[in-house]
Amino acid sequence: MICTDELTVIEVDGQPLAALADRLRVPEPAASIPPDAPEHCPACQAGVTAATEVCPDCGLTLTDLQ
Ligand SMILES: [Zn+2]
Repeated sequence: MICTDELTVIEVDGQPLAALADRLRVPEPAASIPPDAPEHCPACQAGVTAATEVCPDCGLTLTDLQ
């Protein structure tokens, strides 16, 4: 939070900053998907993980799979 003599924001649109921070809090994409989250190969539906780069079943490259 920026807090100087010139700029001290206490409220925005009548809402306390704490409430605004809660509303603006967005989970980071990388943090929303654990590395070992269960995924499925889009081609053969084999069970893989998000960390799997190549499907062990059909060989499909999964690096862009999210
Ligand atoms: Zn596959």
